[in-house]
Amino acid sequence: MMKNLALLTVVLAIQSFTPVWAFQPVKTMIRGGRQTSPRSTSSYNAIILKMSATGFIGLGIMGEGMAACLLSEGVAGSEENPLVVWNRTGSKCAALVEKFPNKKVIVKSTAKEVVESCGITYSMLSTPEASKIVFEGETGVLAGIGAGKSIVDCATLAEADMVRMNEAVVAKGGRFMEAPVSGSKAPAANGVLVFLCAGSKDLFEEIKDNGLTAMGKASHFFGETVGFGTRAKLVVNSLMGTMLAAFGEGIALSESVGLDPSKMIEVIGQGALQSPLYNLKGPKMIVKDHAPNFPLKHAHKDMALACDMAKEAGVEYSVIEQAEKMFRAAREDADLNVADEDFSAVFEKIHKQSTSEFSKKR
Ligand code: NAP
Repeated sequence: MMKNLALLTVVLAIQSFTPVWAFQPVKTMIRGGRQTSPRSTSSYNAIILKMSATGFIGLGIMGEGMAACLLSEGVAGSEENPLVVWNRTGSKCAALVEKFPNKKVIVKSTAKEVVESCGITYSMLSTPEASKIVFEGETGVLAGIGAGKSIVDCATLAEADMVRMNEAVVAKGGRFMEAPVSGSKAPAANGVLVFLCAGSKDLFEEIKDNGLTAMGKASHFFGETVGFGTRAKLVVNSLMGTMLAAFGEGIALSESVGLDPSKMIEVIGQGALQSPLYNLKGPKMIVKDHAPNFPLKHAHKDMALACDMAKEAGVEYSVIEQAEKMFRAAREDADLNVADEDFSAVFEKIHKQSTSEFSKKR
């Protein structure tokens, strides 16, 4: 007992003297012009981190890269602060362990076990349905929640899902923050996502300079009312889906009136409407390369959620709604079979619905 008290006193004393940079990941320090590794300068830091471990649930297209950033940036993965993971498909956990042989990654067999063994757990699941199963199931996230546990949900869900999870976590003495992200597979792998956060301010302050900085290039806090992060995310994605559907129609039109689509992508990229989205997706669209970075089914989910939000807000949204219909038609087209392909595959539906000679030959 005395020994524990003495250790606690040392920890608290050290905490109050620990410089902010001691907790910052390697990427931040390099960006800030400092070259010293935080791990080499913070042996005392390890005493504090011994009390904790970091969790990650959902190693899909996005989660795989995000968890890897936590490891490569030194936020988790040490003996004192291991990364504790769970994924429905276990092989993805095994792949992460294999990729980081020098890091401490612990694989659990349920989401509950991850939460039980960690202070802060990040979650990156695909849909509201998946999230409900993993959160509310018998061996799910909520079953592991108690005082001192924190959940950071990075998925794009309905606002009501985030609100429900927040209430359930807080009711059991935990802390919750929604943190949906702007960015796709490559930004997730490269640690340059943009986090759109709302919920526990303390939790945001605690992770913004380590976990969020390791995985992202910017973090925005929209306030303590859960739901505002999701609202921001749905505005971004409704615009993105609408832009891609309109771009697809523009390129299909170019092809169908005998213009070289590559030339047109170049032209579009030189004017006021240039966009990294068009530069990235355009060349792949014309050669039918729709390898999934952001699956079309998820893009459609977000468009549908944005339409619900717009309807409720009473705002005019006919352009967004039209794009949502186009994504829905592509998703539901069994012959086309592009629901799991990249959302750029909406282009195939545009051609399929067209009667031009070029479209028929495609
Ligand atoms: P994903 O690869 O399709 O799936 C994410 C995770 O959800 C995977 O770990 C998957 O497990 C799990 N999952 C799905 N259904 C499940 C179920 N019934 N039970 C348990 N686990 C289940 O999705 P993602 O592309 O990484 O996207 C994750 C979230 O981020 C989504 O909300 C998406 O809208 C959002 N987002 C995606 C992008 C992007 O470009 N991809 C960009 C920004 C935001 P398995 O591995 O076992 O399938």
